[in-house]
Amino acid sequence: MSVTETETKKTGAQPEFVHDVMANVKAKNPSEPEFHQAVEEVVESLVVVLDRHPEYRSNKIIERIIEPERVIMFRVPWMDDQGEVQINRGFRIEMNSVIGPYKGGLRFHPSVNLGILKFLAFEQVFKNSLTTLPMGGGKGGSDFDPKGKSDNEVMRFCQSFMSELFRHIGPNTDIPAGDIGVGGREIGFLFGQYRKLRNEFTGVLTGKGINWGGSLIRPEATGYGAVYFAAEMLATRNETMEGKTCLVSGSGNVAQYTTEKILDLGGKVLTLSDSGGYIYDEEGIDREKLAFVMDLKNNRRGRIKEYVEKYPKAVFTPIDPAAESNPLWNHKADCAFPSATQNEVNLKDAQNLLDNGVYVVSEGANMPTTPDGVKLFLDKGILYGPGKAANAGGVAVSGLEMAQNSMRYSWTREEVDNRLRLIMKDIHASCVDAAGRFNYEGNYVNGANIAGFLKVADAMIDQGII
Ligand code: NDP
Repeated sequence: MSVTETETKKTGAQPEFVHDVMANVKAKNPSEPEFHQAVEEVVESLVVVLDRHPEYRSNKIIERIIEPERVIMFRVPWMDDQGEVQINRGFRIEMNSVIGPYKGGLRFHPSVNLGILKFLAFEQVFKNSLTTLPMGGGKGGSDFDPKGKSDNEVMRFCQSFMSELFRHIGPNTDIPAGDIGVGGREIGFLFGQYRKLRNEFTGVLTGKGINWGGSLIRPEATGYGAVYFAAEMLATRNETMEGKTCLVSGSGNVAQYTTEKILDLGGKVLTLSDSGGYIYDEEGIDREKLAFVMDLKNNRRGRIKEYVEKYPKAVFTPIDPAAESNPLWNHKADCAFPSATQNEVNLKDAQNLLDNGVYVVSEGANMPTTPDGVKLFLDKGILYGPGKAANAGGVAVSGLEMAQNSMRYSWTREEVDNRLRLIMKDIHASCVDAAGRFNYEGNYVNGANIAGFLKVADAMIDQGII
């Protein structure tokens, strides 16, 4: 019996509803498996809510919430350093603005397509609702690959991308931020072009440089937040991060600051990775080693395997994406922080994590665990924090950056970090509360989906059929 059948039988709701919604989503959005996956997880979580609240069914909230308010697709031509014209595709998915302007990152990666961005925009709606801040959901990006490109090429691409995007965004309409492949350098080029085209200096992007409207702690926020969320989950068992051994994947923005916060809270980080492979450092990645990784990735734009040239006691293992499992997840540890990309933890990886003693999983990445892996974590009752809740710290501090921009005022590092910690605490409490109210104690997946949904759904009813 599937999870859906079990839950619907328990609640008396119609199992056909989820089936019909999914059949419709697949027919209308073919070749978008990540979008189907994200929708299915949410709709399954909500069966019990729909059963208790027929008004959501009669107002067709599910059917409306899965349809983006607007999808923008555009050509991005630019010239490379050899003088050759290159053409990429740009996107912005404006998913839902019922509780605030569209908010969500831009991803530059060759794998980017409409379905991936729709899954990310859909997740963002619930995540932003959970933060308690007034932000709708959106996501965008391009199939442009910044890897191996010169700074000038990245600048020309960003300028061309913004030459179209600028007419669709604004500080009260849609406020993009960073994601995979979009960090401080890219946000700078994008902001510069927006400012020139609009002739105005406004908080239209978040993740800006500290000297021109950025918030302290924004670069750190997603990683710090994922660790705060893990600490909150551990507190429910009267435990802390002190002395915990941790597996972290990725070595970008989220992985770096996840590592930093684990060190702050007394934990030990054993692994980091990139798409080429992972490093295992039995002695732990301390602050000096982390500083090396930050310089390697953020300034020299090198590969993680260079870590073992500097620290030869560590071991580098190449990753074969076609293999049945990722060896990074097959080491003894207490906690795992997937912080690279979607579907990077499959069922076999999930089983390996459990076999190695991992009982805390806090997702820095978006949807990094496949549905059968998620089910295994839930069945085994480990502390599993889904990305929608655990990585919401990034967009939360983006929301704080918007507030500071509106006031033309900057909060201190301590002030922003305190607010972040309180928001992560509130998100954790909302998940626990929603899960408890609908008889899903300990299930942060359903808790996050339900808590995020209720606020958006009620606002959609309040605002009528639009
Ligand atoms: P970065 O671009 O800074 O880093 C991404 C890291 O993940 C790199 O180490 C990259 O390796 C690796 N990676 C990316 N794609 C793949 C892939 N297909 N296979 C293997 N490794 C891969 O991105 P972020 O750290 O910002 O984002 C990481 C995750 O966190 C994403 O899922 C993102 O959506 C999520 N997230 C980010 C937020 C933010 O504030 N930045 C907010 C909330 C969620 P390589 O360099 O080799 O590609």
